[in-house]
Amino acid sequence: MSGNKDHWYPAYVGLGSNLQGPARQLEKAFSLLTAIPETRLISKSSLYHSAPFGGVEQPDYVNAVASLLTCLTAQGLLRELQRIENERGRERNDVRWGPRVLDLDLLVYANHKIDEPDLSVPHPGIGERNFVLLPLREIASGLDIPGLGQIAKLDVSLTQPEISRIE
Ligand code: ATP
Ligand code: CA
Ligand code: CA
Repeated sequence: MSGNKDHWYPAYVGLGSNLQGPARQLEKAFSLLTAIPETRLISKSSLYHSAPFGGVEQPDYVNAVASLLTCLTAQGLLRELQRIENERGRERNDVRWGPRVLDLDLLVYANHKIDEPDLSVPHPGIGERNFVLLPLREIASGLDIPGLGQIAKLDVSLTQPEISRIE
């Protein structure tokens, strides 16, 4: 779905993987983000190792954040992210926060607040997850997140779980 082609919206995408070579999965995902129509990949964060979130026994994750400019609507961008997840072999099952080859979350879309059955923006997990907050802050230190405020002022020590920067 295309939005206004004269207007480029800044958007941030959270990437995560804990199966089939997570770091390699994220590098592949970055390159697939560059191929989304009417969209440019502007920057990518470092990769971060993180312990699993949500109490399910599973391998550690690798996480990162990408910054995009897009003419797509937020819904259109979400569909592209889900297409990439599916292409990479993401299997949907009933385990919430279970292991996955690739997870792409739309974290922030311009200054929009969206509350629809299939799309919440800003992503509700941002303020609670350091594997989102730290890479996002790395590439967007001046970001003002609707409903949360300046990213620089959010207290990372209140977030979960164990995390370390890889590169
Ligand atoms: P979480 O969203 O807590 O990180 P998750 O990433 O494991 O959990 P998924 O199984 O990947 O959740 O997605 C479940 C649904 O979340 C998707 O079908 C999608 O419609 C919905 N969703 C709502 N808001 C967003 C968003 N901002 N980005 C991606 N998916 C979203
Ligand atoms: Ca997620
Ligand atoms: Ca997701």
